[in-house]
Amino acid sequence: MKKPLPFLGHENIMTSLREAQTAGRLPHALLFVGPEGIGKQKVARHLARGILCEKPGGPCDECRACLLSSEMKHPDLIWVEPVEEKIKIDTVREMKKELAFPPMMGSSRIIVFNDAHTLNASAANALLKSLEEPRGGTFFILITHALGWIPRTIVSRSHKIPFAPLSPDQVKRILAELKLNLPEAFVLRAQGSPLQAMALSEIQGRVPEIKALLPGPKAMGFEEAFELAQSAVEAGRVPAFLHALLSSAHESLTGDQGEEAWEFDLLNFTDRILEIKRLLRQNINPKIHLTRLLLYFQEPQESRL
Ligand SMILES: [Zn+2]
Repeated sequence: MKKPLPFLGHENIMTSLREAQTAGRLPHALLFVGPEGIGKQKVARHLARGILCEKPGGPCDECRACLLSSEMKHPDLIWVEPVEEKIKIDTVREMKKELAFPPMMGSSRIIVFNDAHTLNASAANALLKSLEEPRGGTFFILITHALGWIPRTIVSRSHKIPFAPLSPDQVKRILAELKLNLPEAFVLRAQGSPLQAMALSEIQGRVPEIKALLPGPKAMGFEEAFELAQSAVEAGRVPAFLHALLSSAHESLTGDQGEEAWEFDLLNFTDRILEIKRLLRQNINPKIHLTRLLLYFQEPQESRL
């Protein structure tokens, strides 16, 4: 008997991909799009294993191909991850060299680009040629949570598969499977992503309440703000940190029936957070931007606007 498939929330996508694969009409370039941490990689891995399996209807979890691919050691499964937040042209060139030869074990080969939005312009251009001239048995899977950063030329040559965020119940089920018992608030703030819920719970103790950022006798100084920013950067938790600050600002906005000026200030503050989130994709120094953000309310009011 087959084990139940762990694609909570994405069962329909998996089924239709498998049907297309079995019928021999799987598009040669797939673009998985959806929020971070909801299971896109898992689906990609399973699909890849199914394509490489030596038995029809795989993955069978028994053949040599399945054993190798489950350890990510299958020679015809090329999984590309960004290095220092970039996929460079050299990586794409290496991949293309391999493509010049037939697959090593079977008749198919799968190339996955995780975080495909980190392909720099020249790398994307180099990849484009391979997408334009597909070879039989070669499948590309591009995974991203930032579709806007992928060149249109690549998007137009790929078959887009949108992944929806999970429901809070589904997030809870996945966290329970991982034996993580997180407070409900994190689940609700996680925007349908178990990974986000985990990041939020990790960062929580370090994110100050908005009120702690206001000017006053105990106002945060530069050093304290810098240290806080540094700890978020070092823990690799900048997006979660920003997300938690955003939620906190949002709660202050809806909770406090304060003055209009305060609301206006808070809205500007949230705009700054969103701006930094956007800038994070452009190789900025997050430490400096986070520090400035934490000191936002200390700036003279005119320059806050
Ligand atoms: Zn197999």
